[in-house]
Amino acid sequence: MNDLSPVIAADKAHVWHHLSQHKQYETIDPRVFVEGKGMRLWDATGREFLDGVSGGVWTVNVGYGRESIANAVRDQLIKLNYYAGAAGTVPGALFAEKLITKMPGMSRVYYSNSGSEANEKVYKMVRQISARHYGGKKWKILYRDRDYHGTTIATLATSGQDQRALAYGPFPEGFIRVPHCLEYRKQWDVENYGERAADAIEEVILREGPDTIGAIVLEPVTAGGGVITPPTGYWQRVQEICRKYDILLHIDEVVCGLGRTGTWFGYQHYGIEPDFVTMAKGVASGYAAISCTVTTERVFDMFKDAPEDGMSFFRDISTFGGCTSGPAAALENMRIIEDEGLLANTVAMGERTLANLNALAEKHKVIGDVRGKGLFCGAELVADRATKEPADEKKVQAVVADCLAQGVIIGATNRSIPGFNNTLCLSPALISTADDIDTLTNAIDGALTRVFG
Ligand code: PMP
Repeated sequence: MNDLSPVIAADKAHVWHHLSQHKQYETIDPRVFVEGKGMRLWDATGREFLDGVSGGVWTVNVGYGRESIANAVRDQLIKLNYYAGAAGTVPGALFAEKLITKMPGMSRVYYSNSGSEANEKVYKMVRQISARHYGGKKWKILYRDRDYHGTTIATLATSGQDQRALAYGPFPEGFIRVPHCLEYRKQWDVENYGERAADAIEEVILREGPDTIGAIVLEPVTAGGGVITPPTGYWQRVQEICRKYDILLHIDEVVCGLGRTGTWFGYQHYGIEPDFVTMAKGVASGYAAISCTVTTERVFDMFKDAPEDGMSFFRDISTFGGCTSGPAAALENMRIIEDEGLLANTVAMGERTLANLNALAEKHKVIGDVRGKGLFCGAELVADRATKEPADEKKVQAVVADCLAQGVIIGATNRSIPGFNNTLCLSPALISTADDIDTLTNAIDGALTRVFG
């Protein structure tokens, strides 16, 4: 490999890295990645890594180095790179059509660039529906403790992860928090935990006034908030409550979408019929920037038949929502997931990951709970199993660093929920083999022994 030390120096001098302590670069160099193939990455010093988190933030669902996606994007860019979203493009039309075949009940796709943006589109749609159909009264949006929906000011107003929102207020009004549903950290001592946690949403609705609530946004399985799988009965009750009070149900599939949990979308495990579904990361596996806000014909029609008052369309635009690279990459990404049977592989490898983590829990008392769905798994670390006191955050990060020293990249909830940054995360690409999964969990095994004894 060429000497890339000038590149590392350039990065250190000029790149402002996301979510990274500035001070650390006084003593270490930033890691600069150079190449990826399948599940593996190489950095500018020539070191090889097994990637257990699909590009750091559960994004590269089909793995690195996919020439067929690169070719699809290249061919499309030569033909037509862009036209603003008021018109159509060939890949935009074909991807929307294909996507909808996997989402019974849904019908319209609105393109933008990031998960945050896709979510904020929904918040704007909900406010416009309120203005147009409910005299401006049904304008509030519920969100859940421990969920995350993005980095803009409005999406941070719906952050159930307080550390992410610190210092960025004041936030816009009308975003109301409901309790989380993590059964391991029970807030109610009841048998039917799922229904009870959903009833807590109804209590907030009644407190605020049902006719003031336009929508609720929820992750199907909470990601950065600690890999929270919903308890039995939760989603059925949430759906009932939404129908009862005429509240639109917005499912944030930015992480779960496009196969991560072993179905095309996370909500499809739970028989939910959403009004909005947003997606981003896995849509093109990081080969292009694309996000989608998907909705029903019913919602679309709510924008249609208004009088000529300027409200008979969604008054919104996203310049780069008109890039053709996104849907071209996304079409090929979906073909790969289908043709390579990656949903079935995700189910099988997800089961193996959970089994391996449960075996580690027999050996390491520091593992308090193992959770997951498909290739989206977590192990919550505790100082004491009886009290469930969270493990020391620095030690949790030391486990991640130990794995990295072994050439294995894993994740952990980090700087999101005060006191609860204690869940190790595994979200490898959907192409993972049994060997890859075992390498990941063996690395965690060694790291837990070294860090916790
Ligand atoms: N929703 C969820 C559930 C996410 O995990 C994220 C990103 N971590 C977002 C939304 C925001 O996506 P983006 O960073 O693309 O804006």
